[in-house]
Amino acid sequence: MRPPFAFDRPMEITSVEGDSSTTHFVHTDVVNWVLLEQDGQLTLIDGGYPGQAAQVVESIRRIGRHPSDIAGALLTHAHVDHLGGLAKLQSRFGFAVYMDPVEVDHALRHHLQQADAFDLAPLAGQLRLWSWLAKTTPLGVLSRKGLSAAHPHDRVAGEGAALDLPGSPVPVASHGHTDGHSAYLVADGRALVSGDALISGHEISAIAGPQCTPSPFQHDEPTARRSVERFTELDADLLLAGHGPLYRDGVADAARRALSSTYSPNPRTWTVPRPSGVRRPPYRPGGSHPAAE
Ligand SMILES: [Zn+2]
Repeated sequence: MRPPFAFDRPMEITSVEGDSSTTHFVHTDVVNWVLLEQDGQLTLIDGGYPGQAAQVVESIRRIGRHPSDIAGALLTHAHVDHLGGLAKLQSRFGFAVYMDPVEVDHALRHHLQQADAFDLAPLAGQLRLWSWLAKTTPLGVLSRKGLSAAHPHDRVAGEGAALDLPGSPVPVASHGHTDGHSAYLVADGRALVSGDALISGHEISAIAGPQCTPSPFQHDEPTARRSVERFTELDADLLLAGHGPLYRDGVADAARRALSSTYSPNPRTWTVPRPSGVRRPPYRPGGSHPAAE
């Protein structure tokens, strides 16, 4: 019988040494998270799907630490594939979770900005969608549960723009994918944890390499695009994206590539409008319909 939170999924950890901390990028086949390690303490940035909580614990064990070493966590945004595992660890280990002030209500599920079945309908004819759903449904993609407590990251404001957390991450507001999405500069500015503002691959996407998240998952696409345009001004070398492998050719280069990419060999499939007069049903806490990143 499988354990409740199986972690026998592929997982690759890449560690980047900084001046006073180490950044560990944890890449899985569905979503990524990051651990910042300094003086035996950790900052966890994002935490996978609900069904990946044990895999997050396993990643912490592999770097030689324990979840009780987590001094605080950061969230790039409150989608289930970034928040779900984090929520389980939060209730078990009791650390605080910080995020962009705009994202707090989303993380508490006072509202929900996730793709629903209607958003995904234009992809129904694509095998990639069904393959992705088959993989992510057991991991909890349908969950709509939020965090039990969420805090704006200015509560832990440190020196300059950095937060007073292990690894001294620096928030980079990158709204659009969700209203309060935030990226984080880490490893002394060498790397950007970009969440879903800028990704380096996605199972649903037909293209490889740096790209904007596929349209059905974007809450506000024009704003999201402007955020990626601002990434072209960063001089970080490494892109630690929410989805896809580590990208080593520079964040600015990744952002430029994303801005010039198309989403699909058949772009029309991404732009099928909703029939006029049909509106997204209101969010009801406790209800359930397909949700996605
Ligand atoms: Zn997302």
